[in-house]
Amino acid sequence: MAAAEARGAWCVPCLVSLDTLQELCRKEKLTCKSIGITKRNLNNYEVEYLCDYKVVKDMEYYLVKWKGWPDSTNTWEPLQNLKCPLLLQQFSNDKHIYLSQVKKGKAITLKNNSKALKPAIAEYIVKKAKQRIALQRWQDELNRRKNHKGMIFVENTVDLEGPPSDFCYINEYKPTPGISLVNEATFGCSCSDCFFEKCCPAEAGVLLAYNKSQQIKIPPGTPIYECNSRCQCGPDCPNRIVQKGTQYSLCIFRTSNGCGWGVKTLVKIKRMSFVMEYVGEVITSEEAERRGQLYDNKGITYLFDLDYESDEFTVDAARYGNVSHFVNHSCDPNLQVFNVFIDNLDTRLPRIALFSTRTINAGEELTFDYQMKGSGDISSDSVDYSPAKKRVRTVCKCGAVTCRGYLN
Ligand SMILES: [Zn+2]
Ligand SMILES: [Zn+2]
Ligand SMILES: [Zn+2]
Ligand SMILES: [Zn+2]
Repeated sequence: MAAAEARGAWCVPCLVSLDTLQELCRKEKLTCKSIGITKRNLNNYEVEYLCDYKVVKDMEYYLVKWKGWPDSTNTWEPLQNLKCPLLLQQFSNDKHIYLSQVKKGKAITLKNNSKALKPAIAEYIVKKAKQRIALQRWQDELNRRKNHKGMIFVENTVDLEGPPSDFCYINEYKPTPGISLVNEATFGCSCSDCFFEKCCPAEAGVLLAYNKSQQIKIPPGTPIYECNSRCQCGPDCPNRIVQKGTQYSLCIFRTSNGCGWGVKTLVKIKRMSFVMEYVGEVITSEEAERRGQLYDNKGITYLFDLDYESDEFTVDAARYGNVSHFVNHSCDPNLQVFNVFIDNLDTRLPRIALFSTRTINAGEELTFDYQMKGSGDISSDSVDYSPAKKRVRTVCKCGAVTCRGYLN
């Protein structure tokens, strides 16, 4: 637990280049999977990707980047020696994508009998190959860090954007110094069946939030009180949903409508089901005000006020967050925000859970309304017009019929 927390809390980027690290490993005869040096390629050569193409005396050659070796050791290899059909396919796909993009811009005639690729094409293909590797590495890292069942995939078929450079994956709130989150509830139930007995929600004066199919049945704006570490019930209790984390496989993908990264589900999600939690750094509202002045439009949209009962704290998911960091805004969203209390019963510090408002099909993008707070409705006091956030307004690109025009 401590190790996991430490991993989540500290992200130290390595300043040494990948090439240098690989050379060091080779010199010391060490394997290191995360920089691509495996037992297999420590002494052998394995194709990592193809960089360029040429024809010499009717023979086809590809410039090969060797896995675990620096660019300076790239070599031209005849096609007949290459046993990497997938990489050859990728090379050809990337070439066609580049050419179709160029054609869109200006009509140029491309000779198919050319003996070499234009430098710009080879450059694009290499960038695409490097991006693919970087995104795969990031996907692996996200899945190592996450502590829930659902897998996280990463996909960019739109542009050359790689993993975000200043983002650290966390599973739960990261309180800033001076803010303490209670990790154990003061009360636990001793039901033999939490669904039918006077359980934790009743103790808090509210209804049990879920039906027998794990769907939320209470109206937006009503708090969820789940069973906690003091309760006698086991993990199969019907009042333990949010605490089990995301169950669905989700994909962080590059949107084609200029909305940056977005999140789509890879499986069908039933209506009223828990999808994910919104986590980030927990900061005071004064600190949120200060950061709001520093952030650009995009940064500001990561600030989420915990205004369930007070307005003392804000969640900032700009630098620390989970998949919810990448979920886009929509004025007609398919996710709805609920306040949740589990081990921390301090009403100033609810956890934020996102539930589906309707059936969401596999492949559909997930969205929530950035202006919608725990109240569940856009009323004048749920829209935040604090000075920090009013300063810059971001145009909404959600495309909904009911679009309000602005994100904030
Ligand atoms: Zn109970
Ligand atoms: Zn309980
Ligand atoms: Zn229970
Ligand atoms: Zn909109």
